[in-house]
Amino acid sequence: MKNAAVSIEIEGIVQGVGFRPFVHRLAERFGLNGYTLNTSEGITIYAEAGRQKTDAFLKALTAEVPPLARITGIKTSQVAPQGITGFSIRESKKTQQQTALVSPDIGICADCLAEMNRDTDRRHRYPFINCTNCGPRFSIIQDIPYDRPGTTMKAFNMCMDCAKEYNDIRSRRYHAQPNACFVCGPQVWLISGGKTKASGEEAICEAIRHIRAGAIVAVKGIGGFHIACDAKNSLTVQRLRNLKKRPSKPFAVMVADPKKAQTFAEISDTELALLTSPERPIVLLRKKSAGSLCQELSPDNNYIGVMLCYTPLHYLLFDRGLSDGQQLDCIVMTSGNISDEPLETDNDRAARNLSGICDHFLVHNRAIHNRVDDSIVQVMDKRPVMLRRSRGYAPFPFFARTAMKPTLACGAELKNTFCLAKDCRFFLSQYIGDLKTYATYQFYREAVSRMEKLFSVKPSVVVHDLHPDYLSSHYALALKSKKKSLKIFSVQHHAAHCASVVAEHDLKEKIIGVCFDGIGYGADGRIWGGEFFAGTLPRLVRVGHLEYVPMPGGDKATQEPFRMAISCLYQAFGEEIYRLNIGFINKYQNMLADFITLAKLKPVLTSSAGRLFDAVSAILGICDRITYEAQAAIRLQMFAERSKTAKAYRFDIFEEGGMLIVSSGRMLEQLVKDLKGYVSREDIARRFHNGLAEVTARMCSVIRTKSKTNTVCLSGGVFQNKLFLEIVAEQLREKKFSVFYNEVLPSNDGSVSLGQAAIANAR
Ligand code: ZN
Ligand code: ZN
Ligand code: FE
Repeated sequence: MKNAAVSIEIEGIVQGVGFRPFVHRLAERFGLNGYTLNTSEGITIYAEAGRQKTDAFLKALTAEVPPLARITGIKTSQVAPQGITGFSIRESKKTQQQTALVSPDIGICADCLAEMNRDTDRRHRYPFINCTNCGPRFSIIQDIPYDRPGTTMKAFNMCMDCAKEYNDIRSRRYHAQPNACFVCGPQVWLISGGKTKASGEEAICEAIRHIRAGAIVAVKGIGGFHIACDAKNSLTVQRLRNLKKRPSKPFAVMVADPKKAQTFAEISDTELALLTSPERPIVLLRKKSAGSLCQELSPDNNYIGVMLCYTPLHYLLFDRGLSDGQQLDCIVMTSGNISDEPLETDNDRAARNLSGICDHFLVHNRAIHNRVDDSIVQVMDKRPVMLRRSRGYAPFPFFARTAMKPTLACGAELKNTFCLAKDCRFFLSQYIGDLKTYATYQFYREAVSRMEKLFSVKPSVVVHDLHPDYLSSHYALALKSKKKSLKIFSVQHHAAHCASVVAEHDLKEKIIGVCFDGIGYGADGRIWGGEFFAGTLPRLVRVGHLEYVPMPGGDKATQEPFRMAISCLYQAFGEEIYRLNIGFINKYQNMLADFITLAKLKPVLTSSAGRLFDAVSAILGICDRITYEAQAAIRLQMFAERSKTAKAYRFDIFEEGGMLIVSSGRMLEQLVKDLKGYVSREDIARRFHNGLAEVTARMCSVIRTKSKTNTVCLSGGVFQNKLFLEIVAEQLREKKFSVFYNEVLPSNDGSVSLGQAAIANAR
């Protein structure tokens, strides 16, 4: 039979996931000669044999891909046979186009876990065991192609045993870049009071002992530090709250076994699948009423964030053999940072910055190059919905149908992410955080330059938010002043939110965009946040919004929802407000006149839906001052979820200068009447949710008659409210709309950068 040869170029996540060994094994199975290698673009395969054999090989190649690999493109061409004998893996090649995808960090696999627990294995209880199917990736990568010298593992030379596995095609560790063991790899140690107190297994035993005794321990992980303590010890949790200056924002917990989580939370099959997935996000689960955890973990909240161990070291913290028989069940694992600053990643810096919070530090010497926070997911509307996209997901890209100029979209201010676009790909960054402190801004700039290098993107287009004072906008303008040829433009915040849904679901038709959000800069200079758009990308036209209400004291009204409550009530009732005789008005009687004067000055007008939730929360006496973002709205949601009423408050829609306006006046009249009539706060909160959902669907129907489209895109931080998202989606589906919202992207400001890039691309 005549020899044939094929050259195959594969793009996608094909590095660091055991792809070359897989190719090698396949080649042996089909008796092919040739070679494979990593390039900066992905993987190249050259194979020669009889035609039938190469066809069968190609078929198997796409049908049997390794579990973590994702093929996004494959090009095959027939070439002249070179007469090679045998099959080999050749040295990686840096090619011109740097387009290889980088795998996110992956939780420890079942095989490695079993080995770690086997007392005869040479890696018994080794905290850094990994293989081609699991372990750190993005967090340690400095350059592509993904090879050990391009990662922070280059500091460790493999021992003979590890090198043997690394070079053995039958081994699970064949070309596993972070491969290591006790002899040659990273180690752990425990620091207390500035001194190293123990190392290796003893350090872990000590850390467990300290946690059980009520201490707060910093633990270095994959993408940064965690702060850990016993989740059953309410005194310690309270102490951690005081030290971290975090009075009520929920803490996430970690368990080693989903069964433990079942003792305090409800877990559906979808949620279990998320908990145990290789990405291992924090999953928000509904708390059981008589759970085994202390109340201080997520006070006033119906949910608790739970994650499963995802590094070998995490599992060792729960190891029975290391715990003197008294195992830990569940530990608080909150991000290791001081408030508003990025996660700590460096041993010395962490020891300095967290010394006021943590009693002990369990550290290791595998350096973290790219900081990645834990991701957060919640099942809403029966699907997994991303609340924070970072570890396990970043930097896997999103795909576009048309090729783009190299673009940097700078994102928003809070929950910032940025987005690099190139060819047909959007690379969304990991979670950066709130760009309010110098340290976070430093992280932002560092992450931008590292990702530009990693994916070899040299932006010729820069997009930023319309808000002139965002640090991300300043960053964009500074780039422009350095490089005059740069194309730069701004995108309105809520249009970007809606565009992110369009991009995520690859929608080509005309859409109705509904953005219910906190606050964002509007095209009319006012503060938007309850917006209705219609059109296609690049131009979404604002066709309606929630009515404008003054924000007394501007930004302060976000921190102090009672200000919005006074403003909304005054707008609805005028001077009648003094005689309303409800608890809220009685409480603020002495301050009313001042704030009404402030509101009358109309310093800042807002159409924000988030601020309306705040106002209602304050009027009901649920939350009138907040200590973390969206607290008042979240607590209102918790009340509403405890009611089953189908009644809904009526909102009016009126038209003004061609714009549809949703007015809250009538809703507030009914709400005040209910308050006086002793209707429960749970029912009132629910009627508000139902009413706003109802008017949202009604608005979309009105817009549909003009815009002739059935597609609705929901976006903005308010849609992280599970109850609200579900009832809005249901109401819209009843009216025969097709409903889309952010699922793999968070609907809060984490999605703004992708929306900016999508709009830039469409222009
Ligand atoms: Zn593994
Ligand atoms: Zn070794
Ligand atoms: Fe926003």
